[in-house]
Amino acid sequence: MKMVLLELLNKVHFTFDDIKNLLSFRSKEDIDMLRDFAYQVMKQNVGETVYLRGLIEFSNICINDCYYCGIRKSNHKVKRYTLDKEEIYEAAKWCAEQGFGSLVLQSGERNDEQFIDFVEDIIIKIKLSTKSEKLPSGLGITLCVGEQTKETYQRFFNAGAHRYLLRIETSSPVLFKKIHPDFQLYERRMEALKNLKEIGFQVGTGIMIGIPGQTIDDLANDILFFKKMDIDMLGMGPYIIHSDTPMNVYYQEYTERKREIYELALKVIAVTRIVLKDVNIASTTALQAMYPMGREAGLMFGANVIMPMLTPTHVRNDYQLYNGKPCIDEFTSDCFECVQQRIESTGRKVGKDEYGDSRHYFNNRHLNEYGYLLSPE
Ligand code: SAM
Repeated sequence: MKMVLLELLNKVHFTFDDIKNLLSFRSKEDIDMLRDFAYQVMKQNVGETVYLRGLIEFSNICINDCYYCGIRKSNHKVKRYTLDKEEIYEAAKWCAEQGFGSLVLQSGERNDEQFIDFVEDIIIKIKLSTKSEKLPSGLGITLCVGEQTKETYQRFFNAGAHRYLLRIETSSPVLFKKIHPDFQLYERRMEALKNLKEIGFQVGTGIMIGIPGQTIDDLANDILFFKKMDIDMLGMGPYIIHSDTPMNVYYQEYTERKREIYELALKVIAVTRIVLKDVNIASTTALQAMYPMGREAGLMFGANVIMPMLTPTHVRNDYQLYNGKPCIDEFTSDCFECVQQRIESTGRKVGKDEYGDSRHYFNNRHLNEYGYLLSPE
């Protein structure tokens, strides 16, 4: 049996059935083997260093109404906020001084001119104000502010953001429709991902794992979708229920399946690493929300990025995408030493003052870390 599994793991090209088989590993022995294999693939293709992106959730105002999300526009219990620019700069400067190297600017979705100007401004200012000997181009900036027009994406790119996260949530148009209102279109998200790639961003996408009605076939198709779309970075985490959303009707099912969803999320990380090899994969906060050591577990299953929470504490409570978000009551941010200790406890090194860009992006386009074209081999 072990030989059959090893043969499967060692394939170079993975079919839909191969991926489905890998995701179906169930016994502890098989899952341990999957984890160890994914770890080796990670080590060979992107190394063992864990890269950090400080996460600043700068606004929870959102025009979208995703049925699963705690900050959806119809959740009137949420106290809405947008951080002052000064507060964002402070958090960004702290991030750079600590040695994080990069940050993620995340918010609810808005596409009005005032918002676009605001985001463009903060990118420019953060890039300028965080330049140092260690970071000659300033902090690396990953944006996560949803679907925008190609022109807007271009403005953000020109301002200095060079990575963008936009999850497809599920690559199944049918399932996508079930968890979003009619005005949120699968096709528009696909278009947005293509535009981001054309502009030259390192493009990240991802899915929620354990969405009610999602099958192993869906997840296998998601992994093939990442491959087909030539994705550079992935953020995948368990779907976690939020009690003030329309999907709270699944509470019982969610509670019964919690452990299974958590394990499935780890398996999806491992199989994605094995199939895609040189991409960056984040071990998400949602894993930690399910189990306190969930982020560390994600690292063991092949993830190589962590996004420590740097959102100022006075608004953390108002950015709850799901129940049980960790770190809400902590009065300090995830400081570099604490994160470093947690990561080193898994035997990994931390990339201090490094961008930790996606190897896949450079492997594919023959560019170096500063975006210059390398001569073809
Ligand atoms: N508005 C931006 C966007 O849609 O890309 C960024 C913010 S959005 C809240 C970030 C991500 O949170 C979503 O892509 C989604 O996958 C995740 N999320 C929202 N609700 C969730 C839930 N209940 N469980 C797990 N992840 C959730």
